[in-house]
Amino acid sequence: MINYYCSKNRMEEIAMAEYMNTAEEAKETVSKHFIEQEIDKDLAQGVYDHVQTRFPPEPNGYLHVGHAKSIILNSGLAKEYGGKFNLRFDDTNPEKEKIEYVQSIIEDVKWLGAEFEDRLFYASDYFQTMYECAVLLIKKGKAFVCDLSAEEIREYRGDFNTPGKNSPYRDRSVEENLELFENMKKGVYKDGEKVLRAKIDMASPNINMRDPVLYRVAHASHHNTGDAWCIYPMYDFAHPIEDAVEHITHSICTLEFEDHRPLYDWVVKECEFENPPRQIEFAKLYLTNVVTGKRYIKKLVEDGTVDGWDDPRLVTIAALRRRGYTPESLRMFVDLVGVSKANSSVDYAMLEYCIREDLKLKKPRMMAVLDPVKLVIDNWPAGKTEMLPVPNNLENESLGERVVPFSGELYIEREDFMAEPPKKYFRLFPGNEVRLMSAYFVKCTGYETDADGRVTVVHCTYDPETKSGSGFTARKVKGTIHWVSAPTAGQVECRLYENIVDEEKGKLNADGSLNLNPNSKKVVTAFVEPELMKAKVYDSFQFVRNGFYCVDCRDSVKGKPVYNRIVSLKSSFKLTK
Ligand code: ATP
Ligand code: MG
Repeated sequence: MINYYCSKNRMEEIAMAEYMNTAEEAKETVSKHFIEQEIDKDLAQGVYDHVQTRFPPEPNGYLHVGHAKSIILNSGLAKEYGGKFNLRFDDTNPEKEKIEYVQSIIEDVKWLGAEFEDRLFYASDYFQTMYECAVLLIKKGKAFVCDLSAEEIREYRGDFNTPGKNSPYRDRSVEENLELFENMKKGVYKDGEKVLRAKIDMASPNINMRDPVLYRVAHASHHNTGDAWCIYPMYDFAHPIEDAVEHITHSICTLEFEDHRPLYDWVVKECEFENPPRQIEFAKLYLTNVVTGKRYIKKLVEDGTVDGWDDPRLVTIAALRRRGYTPESLRMFVDLVGVSKANSSVDYAMLEYCIREDLKLKKPRMMAVLDPVKLVIDNWPAGKTEMLPVPNNLENESLGERVVPFSGELYIEREDFMAEPPKKYFRLFPGNEVRLMSAYFVKCTGYETDADGRVTVVHCTYDPETKSGSGFTARKVKGTIHWVSAPTAGQVECRLYENIVDEEKGKLNADGSLNLNPNSKKVVTAFVEPELMKAKVYDSFQFVRNGFYCVDCRDSVKGKPVYNRIVSLKSSFKLTK
C-alpha cells in the first residue's frame, strides 16, 4: 500500500498537468504551495521587494534526502522569484563539527544543481556581529549573565503547566552584566559556569520565551575560527542574526521550529535589524523503509552496520549519488511530494518511481544475466560468432544501436527455463519455442541436470529463418528472453540492494534498535555483454528485464566495473491519472 504522500488535490493537479503535456501548461495548472502564496503576499504588500533564501546545514554529518528537499525548495524559490540563494554553514557548535562534513555538503549541494555561486557563508564569520548584538541587548536591559547551572536553569524554567521562576541573577545591573559578559569572552570562567540569557518572560506560555540562553562558555577549538572564541552563541540566537545579516527574506525551516518563531522575531527586533527576515515552517520529509535523521545514520556508520556515509543502502545524498540516483530524479520526487504543514511519511517506492521515470528513456537497455544457466544451440555452426545489431532503447531511437556477439553457447536466466512449467509459463520448457531477444527463435529439445537434479545445461535448436529484423512472420512465439554469449561474456560483481529496514515488521525493535533487513545487500556475479565491461564510474544502464544499474564509484576499476542495482523494474507505485 502506498501512503498518501501529497494532498490528493495536488496529485490530481500534477496528473492533469502531465496529461496536458507541456511544461508551460503544467506550470499554470499546478497551483502554488503555501510558501509561494506567502511570498506572493509579502511582495504584493511591499514587505520585501526581492526574495532571498538560504540552506543552513550544520556541518555535523552528511546530508540526506530530507536536506535535499530543503535545498531544492529553497534554491527553487530563489530561482522562481528571480532572487538569490545562499549556502550557509550553521557552524556555531564546535564540538560536533568537522571539515570533512563541510566538504561533503558543498559537493552535495552542487551536485543537486542548487546555484549558490559565490554565496557560500559561514555563521562563524559573524561571531563578532553576534557578540555585538549580545552587548546591545545587555545595554538595553534585555539580557543578563546568569550563574545558575544547566540543571537549575531547567528547574527554574517550569513546564507546560507551571510558569517559570525568575533567576536570582536576573536583576543584575547593566554595568555588572557588561563586565561579566566581557569576562566570559576573555575566558575567565569554565564551561557551564556562566551563561548569557535573554530577559523576556518567565511566565510566558511559550517555554522558548522563558529567558532562553543566548551564549555559553565552551573552551573548544572551532574548525573555522580556531581558538579566537571561548563563548559560542546558541542556535535560537545565532540563526535569526545569520539570516538578518545576509538579508534573507524568507527563512524556511521545518515544523519543530514553529514554537521558536516568537523568539526568532524577538531577536531580530531587539537587535534592531531593518527589514528583518520572516520564518516560515514546513513539514520534514520522512521516508518509509529507510533511515532518515542524521543521528540514526551516524550510528549505522559508526557501528559499521553500513560501509560508510555513502553506502548505497543509505539515503544520504552521497549514497543516492553512488547508487545511481540523478539530481533530476530527486527534483521530480520533491516536486511530487509537495510542500506541506502536516508531518507524514512518503513511501520509498515513490523515490524509485522517480528514478525509473528519469532513466527509462535516457539509458541504453543492455543484456546481463544475473542467475545464469547455460543454453546450448545444438544446430549452430561450430565455432561461429555472429555480430547482431541490437537497438539501445526501443522507446528512444536516438540512442541508436550496438552490435552484440551471438553464438551457439549462451547464458540465460535460470528462471527462464522450467522442466515442468505451470500453466501460462511462456518461456523455455521442453518442446517450447521462444525468441532470444534481437536474435533467433530457439526451441527447447532437452536439458541436463547434476546429481542433485539441478539443471546445468538447456539444449535447443534455432531456426535461421527467424532472425530478428528479417520480417519473419510465419509463426509467432509468446515469450522473449534475454541472453549473453558465453565465450565473450564479461563477469561482473552486482550488488542487489533492498531497503535497509523493513517497516512492515516495525521500524524499531523492542530495545529501540533499528529492525534491520538482513537481506539489504546481496552480491552476485553476473554474465554481461562486452559493452558493459567498458563502462565508467557513475555510468548507468537498464539491464533488460532486471532493473537499472550504475557503476560503483568506489570499488570499480577500469575494465572491471562493479554494478549497483539502483532499482528493479517492477513497481508497486503508480502515479494515478
Ligand atoms: P536531522 O534532523 O537529520 O538531524 P538537522 O535538522 O539536524 O537534520 P541541519 O543541518 O540543522 O540538520 O539541517 C539543515 C536544514 O535542513 C534545516 O533548515 C532543516 O530544517 C532542513 N532539514 C533537515 N531535515 C529535514 C527533513 N527531513 N526534511 C526537510 N528539511 C529538513
Ligand atoms: Mg538541526
